[in-house]
Amino acid sequence: MQKILSLLKKHNDWRKNCINLIASENVMSDFCEKLYVSDLMHRYAEGLPFKRYYQGLKYIDQIESLTEDVFKKHFKANFVDLRPISGTLANMAVFSALTKKGDKILTLGIDGGSHVSHEEPGAAGILGLKVFHIEFKNSSIDLEKSKKQILKIKPKFIVLGGSVILFPQPIKELKKICQKTNTKIIYDAAHVFGLITAGFFQNPLKEGVDIITSSTHKTFPGPQGGIILGNIEKDLQKKIQAKVFPGVLSNHHLHRLPALYFALMEMKKFGKQYVSQIIKNAQALAKQLDKFGFDVLEKEKGFTKSHQVLLNVEKFGGGNLIATKLENANIILNKNIIPEDKIDPQNPKGLRIGVQEMTRFGMKEKEMKIIAGFMKEIVIDGKDVKEVEKKVIRFRRKFQKMKYCF
Ligand SMILES: *Cc1c(COP(=O)(O)O)cnc(C)c1O
Repeated sequence: MQKILSLLKKHNDWRKNCINLIASENVMSDFCEKLYVSDLMHRYAEGLPFKRYYQGLKYIDQIESLTEDVFKKHFKANFVDLRPISGTLANMAVFSALTKKGDKILTLGIDGGSHVSHEEPGAAGILGLKVFHIEFKNSSIDLEKSKKQILKIKPKFIVLGGSVILFPQPIKELKKICQKTNTKIIYDAAHVFGLITAGFFQNPLKEGVDIITSSTHKTFPGPQGGIILGNIEKDLQKKIQAKVFPGVLSNHHLHRLPALYFALMEMKKFGKQYVSQIIKNAQALAKQLDKFGFDVLEKEKGFTKSHQVLLNVEKFGGGNLIATKLENANIILNKNIIPEDKIDPQNPKGLRIGVQEMTRFGMKEKEMKIIAGFMKEIVIDGKDVKEVEKKVIRFRRKFQKMKYCF
């Protein structure tokens, strides 16, 4: 028993002393965290608000329905489903509502930035879908070639968005082609949902996607979970709802909902400031790393328009080695497959960096330069990791209070 308690304490203390640059993580505000721990976490609800299979839900029904309403209104969507308990399950539900076994779909592919749930080892494969990959030119979607692909394959849907995503994608252009083949467009916004919520990056529904799937805890600083949003006909809404429950889950972890509601309220109030700083920070970090001699991807395009920065660290020994070295100095990020990588998930060439969490703790461009400096000391100068770790801890101590929240 002591062991578990002590490990938990160690983890909590350690991560407060780290520069967290994992692109898929964020932290909830103290206020949302308090709301997250409530009696709701003990309860069961199956089905939709006011149409449940359990008793005891008269207040929860109202909480869930009000939360649905604010999301619909904010995103100008006629449909929302908050029940998926993860982004992967949101995808599973939507994919299965749109297809039957053996159907063809078109995705970005892992080296094009897609998430494993879009691919054969993940949800798409479990559903028996045949996955084809969109063609790229200079790491952007090749519109000419994808037009031919879509007309030839006639996929049931294409999935945009993704896990490695630096720039907005050409939704409008693809929409024109997809209309000819009755192909739906799904935008998996897991990574950029916070940016989109605040009115940055791109507006997928307005630009023409049918459905957004997402997680609610990456750039959007909510509780871990999934969401589906869309402007779709009633029939498809019903199909998706039925795939969520009883399809991929029964209870939907009700304690998420008040925290989710207030995370959206925080983004309505502080999102513009928060997200504009995230993007400035990502660009500042990329620029400084480039100056120091790192291979930062997409220099010609200005490095990034999202929360992410991508590095090719092949010349320093590869993603695995460098991510581990940095971790030893309390700089936490992850190795990642980057465009045109050989697919070796155990040792890809790349590192993926996200600045959303450190931005939330009040870091700005100046601090990004300092972080780039720590990375240089370890990766390029070969300084003693323990020495850098001490500096990292001292530096992080000044950024413990969360900003952009109630
Ligand atoms: C993280 C991610 C997911 C999965 O979300 P989980 O909540 O971890 O299941 C799905 N799609 C994309 C693009 C992601 O980056």
